[in-house]
Amino acid sequence: MTQAIHAALPAAVVRQARHLAAAGADPVSAFLYDLPALRRHVQRLTSCLPSGVELFYAIKANSEAPLLETLAPWVDGFEISSGGEIARVAQCSRRLPFVFSGPGKLDADLEQALEQGVELVHVESLGEIRRLGAIAGRMGRRQPVLIRINPALPPHLATRLSMAGGPTPFGIDEEELAQAVALVEQSPHLALHGFHIHAMSHQLDVERHIELLDWYLDKWPSWRALAADPRLVRCLNAGGGMGVDYLGPAQFDWERLCRHLAARLARLELDAEAPRIRFEPGRLVSAFCGYYVMQVLDLKRSHGKRFAVCRGGTHQFRLPAAQGHDHPVLHLPAPGNTAARTEDGEEWSVVGQLCTPKDVLTRRAVLSGLAVGDLLVLPMAGAYGYNISHADFLCHPRPRQVFLEPEASNNNTMESTTCCTS
Ligand SMILES: *Cc1c(COP(=O)(O)O)cnc(C)c1O
Repeated sequence: MTQAIHAALPAAVVRQARHLAAAGADPVSAFLYDLPALRRHVQRLTSCLPSGVELFYAIKANSEAPLLETLAPWVDGFEISSGGEIARVAQCSRRLPFVFSGPGKLDADLEQALEQGVELVHVESLGEIRRLGAIAGRMGRRQPVLIRINPALPPHLATRLSMAGGPTPFGIDEEELAQAVALVEQSPHLALHGFHIHAMSHQLDVERHIELLDWYLDKWPSWRALAADPRLVRCLNAGGGMGVDYLGPAQFDWERLCRHLAARLARLELDAEAPRIRFEPGRLVSAFCGYYVMQVLDLKRSHGKRFAVCRGGTHQFRLPAAQGHDHPVLHLPAPGNTAARTEDGEEWSVVGQLCTPKDVLTRRAVLSGLAVGDLLVLPMAGAYGYNISHADFLCHPRPRQVFLEPEASNNNTMESTTCCTS
């Protein structure tokens, strides 16, 4: 792995990482979030959107309060998938529309969502439509819904990573769609506003994503025609799933997707049937602002391989293990560190403190002049990082989470050691 392709660390991240190493008695494992960078990134994402196209943030990627507060002025709303996530959104100082997707929604979660004024419930099964109708009825509401479709994707669009197009717990097959539409329309307490499809994850290829979106738009009239009054069916939520290139520079070309959509919508402009389109990415929004910092505890060799054993591990940053990739690592020598340094250009496996051979963050990272006490920084750790991890394994303390504000200094840096599962 070469490191040259990865951007240099922001100065505020370097400062804060070194500050943590200098200030604490304990070796560092921490997540740093560069909130000004997150703000600039989401501004860029929304500035490309064709007019009328909306951007929701799927908060399961990272629902820490400072991230939601940073995003709230820029996104059109939040996508949530649990009662716990409703609470996260409810705590945000700015009340944005939120939509509720996901399999296995509890009655209690649906009630809570309705109480909190959920904009749209994305219904995932015939049973869920019946349950939601009953709950909305008890609460004296008429709840707008999108029906989540699990479409039969043409083979060239289906991939190994697709969340639709094959057997999944998500959404309703196209064969059952007419029945689902009828069920919604039979309920006096539900109103069909449109359809939702979240078919992909880790999509890096914008041309494939465009093909997918075009395919949805081609199918839209036939889905809409299932409704008794198609004029009421206006919303197409095209999901998230735009990927992040952890291993190289080939990031998802969001501008290209938006340009294509603008051109296609311009052609449809005079057509009253054109849907209002909404995206709901998670990873693409929050991945880049996060950094996982680990302090080197031990440097050792075993059977011809080199291991840098670091504070923390995959129980705190599970992403590389979950995805089976070698995460990029940047080396931050600790100033004044007088410990012995390794040779230049050697290959190291970066591992954590767990008693399992799976606790590997990267293999074959080329690192120079490494010393015990130095810091290793894993960038692109802002989405599906800490919150998908098994942080209590081996009873290690939880990592710190530090949220860097503009001109981060010790004074205006918010710090939190809380976690959504604690
Ligand atoms: C997880 C999820 C998303 C976000 O997915 P990303 O890959 O993070 O963009 C959006 N919509 C639904 C329904 C999801 O389950």
